[in-house]
Amino acid sequence: MSASSDSRILKIGIVGFGPFGQFLGKTMIKQGHILRATSRSDYSELCANSGISFFREIGAFLEAENDVILICTSILSLQEVLKSMPLHHLKRPTLFADVLSVKEHPRNVLLREHDVLCTHPMFGPESGKDGWKGLNFMYEKVRIRNEAICSSFLQIFESEGCRMLKMSCEEHDKLAARSQFLTHTIGRVLSEMEIQSTSINTKRFETLVQLKEGTMNDSSDLFSGLFVHNRFAQQEKVKQELIEKMNEEKDLNDSKDVEYSR
Ligand code: NAP
Repeated sequence: MSASSDSRILKIGIVGFGPFGQFLGKTMIKQGHILRATSRSDYSELCANSGISFFREIGAFLEAENDVILICTSILSLQEVLKSMPLHHLKRPTLFADVLSVKEHPRNVLLREHDVLCTHPMFGPESGKDGWKGLNFMYEKVRIRNEAICSSFLQIFESEGCRMLKMSCEEHDKLAARSQFLTHTIGRVLSEMEIQSTSINTKRFETLVQLKEGTMNDSSDLFSGLFVHNRFAQQEKVKQELIEKMNEEKDLNDSKDVEYSR
């Protein structure tokens, strides 16, 4: 195992084995941790090829005595996914950690009776494809009784060279509304405009093309979640203006429909 000597091998159960869950899982496996996964879709074959046990049945997954349950579902589905978990199947106190790109929302809905660690790795499969060294990793220990498990989990990221940032969920969401959410919004606008690389690119235009391409890899659920579940993003002036413009266009189209139907 490549993590430092004070870390231990963890049994980690990933809930939501989409692009980001798979991306994190690769490094955890590389470090020697034991991985289990469960998801709405069937990833049994992919998991079998990666040495991960895949559970179609959530009860059996919870009974598998995970040290950490790592929530990697979309922001929009978090509540529904948590509601569907029969927690009485857990055989012991378990650390619930999440990696959602908004932080107050999971902090508020994560389970009251377990240890809770809210985190946000500020990178993804594209920006972290050559390693995690120097990349930001935000976390808040919301309620931790078992410090050993929690620090072994954080060690996964620390040992890869992440810049560990202890920060409240509220502060994260405030900052993310003015940085990450803004980046996604501009990326989406560029994508709508279908901007393409040309033979006379300037360096700044190349940056815009890269931003558009990076954003296109992210799901629309991710973008909606960043807005719907970050109260600070909802206060952003640019977003308010976009909503007002969308509503104006909708009203205009509705009135045209009425005219046509006359
Ligand atoms: P995503 O579209 O945000 O989430 C995909 C995951 O959510 C899949 O596991 C999918 O399950 C599950 N899911 C979606 N709707 C569901 C529903 N109705 N019921 C049950 N499960 C549902 O894409 P992602 O990139 O993998 O992101 C996962 C999480 O990581 C998100 O919370 C995101 O904010 C966070 N994150 C992502 C990045 C990134 O760069 N991608 C970086 C940091 C944090 P199935 O695959 O089984 O359908």
